[in-house]
Amino acid sequence: MVEYIGIEGIQRIVGRIGPAAFIEGLAAEIETDYRRWSEFDKSARHAIHSPGGVIELMPTSDGQMYSFKYVNGHPKNTAKGLLTVTAFGVLADVETGYPLLLSELTVTTALRTAAMSALAARWLARPDSRVMALIGNGAQSEFQAIAFAHMLGIRAFRLYDVDGQAMKKLARNLQGLGRHDLQVTLHCSAAEAVEGADIVTTVTADKRNATILTPGMIAPGMHLNAVGGDCPGKTELHADILRRPDARVFVEYEPQSRVEGEIQQMPADFAVTEFAQLLSGAAPGRASPAEVTIFDSVGFALEDYSALRYLYKLQRQQGQPHKIDLIPHLENPKNLFGLLAAGNPSAAITKAAARLAKSRTAELTAP
Ligand code: NAD
Repeated sequence: MVEYIGIEGIQRIVGRIGPAAFIEGLAAEIETDYRRWSEFDKSARHAIHSPGGVIELMPTSDGQMYSFKYVNGHPKNTAKGLLTVTAFGVLADVETGYPLLLSELTVTTALRTAAMSALAARWLARPDSRVMALIGNGAQSEFQAIAFAHMLGIRAFRLYDVDGQAMKKLARNLQGLGRHDLQVTLHCSAAEAVEGADIVTTVTADKRNATILTPGMIAPGMHLNAVGGDCPGKTELHADILRRPDARVFVEYEPQSRVEGEIQQMPADFAVTEFAQLLSGAAPGRASPAEVTIFDSVGFALEDYSALRYLYKLQRQQGQPHKIDLIPHLENPKNLFGLLAAGNPSAAITKAAARLAKSRTAELTAP
C-alpha cells in the first residue's frame, strides 16, 4: 500500500498547524536539505513546451529516497476557470524503488515556493525590511505574503496586479487572517507599488519576456524575489536590473536557472551564486545595506523532495495515514498474472509483503 495525500489530506495536515507554521517548518526542512547539497543527484527539470504552457518533470534523490514532481504552467488557464499551476508528486524508497507516498503538490507547491522565497530573503534581505511590494496577486500570492509576514516580519504589503479583482481578492484574504498588525494597500501600477518597498516579490504569470520591474523602480538596498519568470522566454525583470554594478544574483541550481530564470537574458559567463554556496559559507551573502540582492527563483526539485518528506512525516505524526493500493503485494512476486486470475486483488496481499513494507518504512522514518 502507498500512502496518499489528496486535497482533503493537505487541508487536514496544513489546517492542524496553520499555513504560517507549516511554511516555517518546511523552510527549515529545505534549508537542512540545501546544506547537504552534494548528497543530491541533481539535474535541470525536463520540460515539454506548447504554445500555451509547459509540462515539467522534476526528479532528485539523496540515495535514500527519490522524489519527482509533475507540474504545469499555463498562464492562460485562469481565463477558462482553471489554475495556472497544478502539480502532484511521489516520494519513493531508493533501495526497493517502491513508492512510499503519492501526494497532491498544487497547494504544496505554493507553500514550498513561499517557504523557499522567505528562506532566501532571510539570508539576503536587509534584516530591517518591513515593507514588501507584491506584484502578481494570483494563486501563489497569499502564500508569499504569509511567509514574509511570519518569517521576515513584513508588516506592510503594497499590492499590484493588472487584474483589479485579483488584487482585491488578495487584500480580502490577508484581512481574513485577522492580523491587525498587517497593513495592506492597493496600487495603480507596479512602479507605485514598489515605492518605498524593502522587498519586491514578482509572481506574475505571462508567457513572454515581460518587464514587470524596470531599472528606475529599483532603489539601493532592495531585495528582489523574482518568482514568476521560470521558463524559457518567460521573465519578469528588465535585463539592466541584473546588470547593475551594485546587484548580485542568487539562484537555486545554476544549470536549470541559466535556461529558465531571469539570467536566461544574460551571457553564459554572467556571475551568479547558488543558494547552497551561501549556506555553506563558500560564497558571501549581502555585502552591504545598499547592495541590491536578487533571488532568481525558478523552483528546484530538492524543494519538492523536502516538501514530500515533510508531508510524509507530518501525516504519520498526525495519525493514521491514508493508503491506496497503487502497487500490488504478491505472495509470489513472479506471479503478477495471478493477481488478475485471483479476481480479488486484496486476496493477494500477503502478511510477509505487508511486514516487509512496514519494517522498511520504519527504517526510513527512524530519527
Ligand atoms: P496566477 O495565474 O494564479 O496569477 C498570476 C497573476 O499575475 C494574475 O493575477 C495576473 O493577472 C497577474 N499578472 C500577469 N501579468 C501581470 C503584469 N504585467 N503585472 C501585474 N500582474 C500581472 O498564477 P500563480 O499560480 O500565482 O503563479 C504565478 C507565477 O509564478 C507563474 O508564472 C508560475 O509559473 C510561477 N511560479 C513559480 C514558482 C517558482 O518556484 N519560482 C512556483 C510556482 C509558480
